[in-house]
Amino acid sequence: MSNRTFTMIKPDGVANNYIGPILAKINEAGFRIIAMKYTRLTPDQASLFYAVHSQRPFYNDLVKYMSSGPIVAVILEKNNAVEDFRTLIGATDPAKAAPGTIRNLFAKSIEANAVHGSDSDENAAAEGSFFFSMTERF
Ligand code: UDP
Ligand code: MG
Repeated sequence: MSNRTFTMIKPDGVANNYIGPILAKINEAGFRIIAMKYTRLTPDQASLFYAVHSQRPFYNDLVKYMSSGPIVAVILEKNNAVEDFRTLIGATDPAKAAPGTIRNLFAKSIEANAVHGSDSDENAAAEGSFFFSMTERF
C-alpha cells in the first residue's frame, strides 16, 4: 500500500483562485503535505512531465496549457495515497467526475481539470522527484 502521491494544482486551478479551496479538500480528506512549491513549467518541462502521452492527440495542447501559467506542485502523504487521491479528484473529464470530487467542484473542461494525480506508486515517486530534491522532501 502506497503512502505518498504527487499532485499539481493546474493553471486553471491557480488562475481561478482555487489553491486554498483545493488544499482544504485535500487536508479534510486526511492527506498531509510533505512538500509544496508554487512554480511554472516551461513548455520543455511540461513536455517531459507528460512524455508518456506524447503520441496522444491532445498532447500538444496539453503541453501549451500546462505551461500557460503558474501551478502548485505538492507531495502528499496518507495510507493508500495514490488510490485514495484518485478517488478524491474524480474522473479526468469533470462532466463525469463524481459529485463532491475536486474535479467535479473546481474543473471546467477535460483539459483544464484543476488538478493532477499520480496513477501509480512508481509514477508518484518519479513525479515528486521531478519537482523536489531529496532535501525538500521530508
Ligand atoms: N487530457 C486532455 N484530453 C483528453 C485526456 C486528457 O486534455 O482527452 C489532459 C487532462 O489535463 C489530463 C491530462 O491530459 O488530466 C493527462 O491525461 P490522463 O489520461 O493521464 O488523465 P488523468 O490521469 O489526469 O486523469
Ligand atoms: Mg494520468
